[in-house]
Amino acid sequence: MLRIEEIYPLLTNQSRRAVIIMHQKPDADAMGSSLGLFHFLRQLGHQPTVISPTNWAEWLRWMPGCDDVIDYEFNTEKAIGVLDKAEWVFCLDFNTMSRTRHMAARLRKLPATRILIDHHQQPEVECFAYGVSNTAKSSTSEMIYDLIVGSGHADKINRDIAECLYAGVMTDTGSFRFPGASADVHRMVSVLKDTGINHTRIHENLFDNFLENRLRFTGYVLQNRMEIFYEYNAALIAIPWKDLVRYEIKTGDTEGLVNYPLSIQGIKMAALIIDRDEEVKCSFRSKGSFDVNVFARTYFEGGGHVNAAGGRSTDTLDHTVQRFIQALKENSSQLQ
Ligand code: 5GP
Ligand code: MN
Repeated sequence: MLRIEEIYPLLTNQSRRAVIIMHQKPDADAMGSSLGLFHFLRQLGHQPTVISPTNWAEWLRWMPGCDDVIDYEFNTEKAIGVLDKAEWVFCLDFNTMSRTRHMAARLRKLPATRILIDHHQQPEVECFAYGVSNTAKSSTSEMIYDLIVGSGHADKINRDIAECLYAGVMTDTGSFRFPGASADVHRMVSVLKDTGINHTRIHENLFDNFLENRLRFTGYVLQNRMEIFYEYNAALIAIPWKDLVRYEIKTGDTEGLVNYPLSIQGIKMAALIIDRDEEVKCSFRSKGSFDVNVFARTYFEGGGHVNAAGGRSTDTLDHTVQRFIQALKENSSQLQ
């Protein structure tokens, strides 16, 4: 994989058909970084299209350009048509092709030049011609900002770009709370703010934009589905499929739920295991040195970051929960 800087001269030498893709069920960083890059490439005269492997949460729809994003699962033929003609495919906010779900096999075979921009651990670098992978970065949105400034185009950062990148960096840093919220991040935010963005509205769009059922569901699962393992300083929320049906839970409605147990004194690791019918999805969060990336990789075919990772299981929910508890036992000393 060649360094991302090698494509900087190519950004302005001719117009290209570029596709920008992100991980399945994109969060605000995946969508924000993709749309930020989309608006930037358009200004440089390229013809970019954003494709998401799956649908995304309703509360991301306010982002400028979001209405033009193609859902690969919903609109497969259109997406394939665009992908087949692409000269560049930018892969944002994921480290392994499997994170693009049904797109993965097609992506591997495309003749287009693949470019990685990501901040997750252990990327599949052999799949990319160019790229940058930096786990020290707060968010992929910060890395798009670095690309724009590093390639000499800071003047192109307009309000649309700023709104998208702000949403990504703010959510991936837990509203500027996590260690990734460096001085550089705050300097970047000051530049984004100078474009005239209304950051209060962005926070409201992202956090005060849900339906009643979501809050009732949160209350229900915290009361009925949360288990605390004080001996391991850990907690688990395990949600059966029937709860998702009962509360009419949609894509994105469970985001953030995994963080609640970390607000309990002494809890260093939290897990959310959800039976999504087609698969059992796991999310892990930690505080301090317990590495949930390694944990997710070792036990649940997943990965991510030191303090935030995810994975999956093909077992039943009950069996996955038993495996999780066994995994806690095996990690008991690191959790003390
Ligand atoms: P979440 O728990 O919010 O789904 O994901 C937490 C972090 O782990 C995110 O950065 C996400 O990209 C990553 N992640 C989630 N699920 C998986 C997975 O199945 N495999 C890998 N490699 N990373 C994941
Ligand atoms: Mn991210």
